[in-house]
This record gives sequence, structure tokens and C-alpha cells, in this order.
Amino acid sequence: MELAQRVQQLPPYLFARISQLIAEKRAAGVDVISLGIGDPDLPTPPHILDALKAATDIPANHRYPESDGTPEFRRSIANWYQKRHGVTLDPDREVVPLIGSKEGIAHFPLCLINPGDVSLITDPGYPVYEVATMFAGGETVKIPLHEEDGWLPRLEEIPADAAARAKILWLNYPNNPTGAIADLAFFERAVAWAKAHGVAIAHDLAYADVAYDGYEPPSILQVDGARDVAIEFNSLSKAFNMTGWRVGMAVGNAELVNALTRVKTNMDSGIPQAIQAMAMAALDGPLDAIDEHNAIYTRRRDRTIAVLRELGLRVEPPKASLYVWARLPEGERSSADFAGRLIDQTGVVVTPGMSYGQAGEGYIRISLTTPDDRLNEALDRLAKFARGERVI
Ligand SMILES: *Cc1c(COP(=O)(O)O)cnc(C)c1O
Repeated sequence: MELAQRVQQLPPYLFARISQLIAEKRAAGVDVISLGIGDPDLPTPPHILDALKAATDIPANHRYPESDGTPEFRRSIANWYQKRHGVTLDPDREVVPLIGSKEGIAHFPLCLINPGDVSLITDPGYPVYEVATMFAGGETVKIPLHEEDGWLPRLEEIPADAAARAKILWLNYPNNPTGAIADLAFFERAVAWAKAHGVAIAHDLAYADVAYDGYEPPSILQVDGARDVAIEFNSLSKAFNMTGWRVGMAVGNAELVNALTRVKTNMDSGIPQAIQAMAMAALDGPLDAIDEHNAIYTRRRDRTIAVLRELGLRVEPPKASLYVWARLPEGERSSADFAGRLIDQTGVVVTPGMSYGQAGEGYIRISLTTPDDRLNEALDRLAKFARGERVI
């Protein structure tokens, strides 16, 4: 049996060394604490769960859903965009619900990429854009991001040949892994660049509602004319602690939304209807939980930053996302070595920045989704380590 090249070409598991270290430590009886994974620890709010429970009693919800979601759920999404971003969407032409935004992101290159076409992706970045492009037969060209630019791409430095072959420019602000944000002025420049080069923008707004200090992340669709070129992926996962329920959406350019819907119709049968009912309860219902969760993340963020600074890492408080992105102390070169040493000497797991691309080397990512008691224990250990004390 010879597996297809698309499977053989999947990137090697970059955490392999870290995973092995974790396994060794656990085997030696160490209580390992992972600050690596971006998956909210807090439960889905009760009124949203109640809507799911009620929806399971309705026999119509036991049957196949439609790939493009119920009309009511699409309207809910359009209302959500109006309420949160002041963006008016046609629920029947400019909205498609997704089985988690990752599903739509992974399928989207099938809409635009022919063999040899290019996706422009940022380095560092969320790995799905690259793999999804490869699955569609395309190639990726990486745009390196730099701290001094606030981790925004230098659009004017995208090579002309890459721009000429490009079909998609992937953007993701608030950003995973860097926690960087983009303002509307940046999105305006990106839309102008995309129009000038005949490239579609796929904007990943997974962290639309995870923000701090009063900051409100914008939608790229707030830019005039953005919907001529842009599709935006959004999700209930991080906003409502709903990663386990798998529900997201793509909105924006009607032709792209239609193409993605047609791809999906041939691959899946949509989101279970009871979960669509649940998602409507989230979008249409009270939003206090979002502020409450963000207040918890803010406290975790500030405690984490204080300890990272004791460790000699350089870090600015992120205004959004679930991540603290910290620069290694002077003289430390390898994020994997640094992360390995932390596991070995403290039992605390952080993600090496190079896992998200070469330009992430020299940084580590810490997720704020660890329960408070565990996070406090991890931070106590790191503080002891910083003082040169023996930890485990
Ligand atoms: C979490 C995350 C997603 C995926 O979210 P789902 O809607 O749960 O699939 C997409 N993009 C980024 C950058 C993420 O961090």
C-alpha cells in the first residue's frame, strides 16, 4: 500500500521531542502541567446548553441537516455581524455555517486553488492554511512576520511572482500564535492590495470575541468594498467556550460563500440541527459570559506576564487572543531547547514558537486556557525556577 503524496507530505509532528519529554516526566511521577493548548477550560454557559437539551427532543432535529444550515441560523449569524461589527449581511447569499471554522478553512482552498496556484500565508501562523492548500494541489509562499511591525505582513514586500500566482491571502487577526491585532487601516491596505493583484482574502477571525482592556477586534468586512474580495471565518468556539460543539461560520463575498457551500454539499451534511439551535441561543442570547470569560483571561494574562518577566522573557500584554507570546531571554536561541528545559526542570509545558514557522523561532507561546489552580501552580514553579530554586 502506498499512501497518497498529500498524506506522505504532511509535516512531521513538531512536538515529537516535547511529547517524548512529557511522557518521560510523567513516567517518572512528575505532575506535568501543560500551558500549550488553546482550548477554553471553562464550561459552555448554561442557557446555551439548555437550548441544546431542548432541541434534542424535537424529532426533526434527529434527521439530516442541510449543508448550508437552517435559514434561521443563517439569519442569527447575519444579526450577530450587525450587532457586533455593524456589518450588514444577506443571510441567504453571504453566510454559510461551518462544522467549526477549521472545517471551512480546510475546505476553502478547494474553491480557488488549481494545481500550481499559490496561497500566501504568514510565518508564524496557524498550520491549517498551509496543509489545506497542499491538499488542494497548491503551493504556499510564506510571508515572514516581524515583531517590529506588530506581526503584520509587509504587503509591499510580497514578491511579484508570488503575487501573480497567488489566489488566496490568508490573514488572522487577532493572531494565533502572536496575539497581534490589526486595525481597520491595515485591513484597508490588505483589501486594496488584494484588489490590485486579483487575490482573494481569507480572514480568520477566530478570536473576534476574546479581547482585553476594552479592545474590540474588527471584522475585515467593516472595510468599504471588502466583500468584493474577502471571506471571513468566524467561530463560536473561543467566544462561548464551545470548541467541543463544532460550530462556526464563513461570511462575506457571495461568490466565495456559494463556492464553499457547494464544496461542502459534496462533502458533509452540515451541522447537527440541535447544535444549530444551541448556536442561535448563543448568538441571540445574553452576552455577559463573554465579558466574564475575558475578565478571567485578563487576570491570568497579567499573572503570567509577571512571572515570564521574572524568567527574563520579553513580553507585551496581548490585547486579544488566548495567548501570551514571549521572546526568549538574550542569548537563548532555540525555543525548543528552552521549552525542553522548562519541562525537564519544572514539569511545565509551553509551546516553542518555531512550531508555528521559522519566524516564530526565538519565542514561546503560552495559552491562557489552563484552570486557575493549575495555572497558579505552574506559575509558582516557574517563579521558583527563575529564582534558581529546585522545583521538581
Ligand atoms: C481555534 C482556531 C480556529 C478553529 O476554531 P474552530 O471553529 O473550533 O474550528 C481557527 N483558527 C485559529 C487561528 C484558531 O486558533
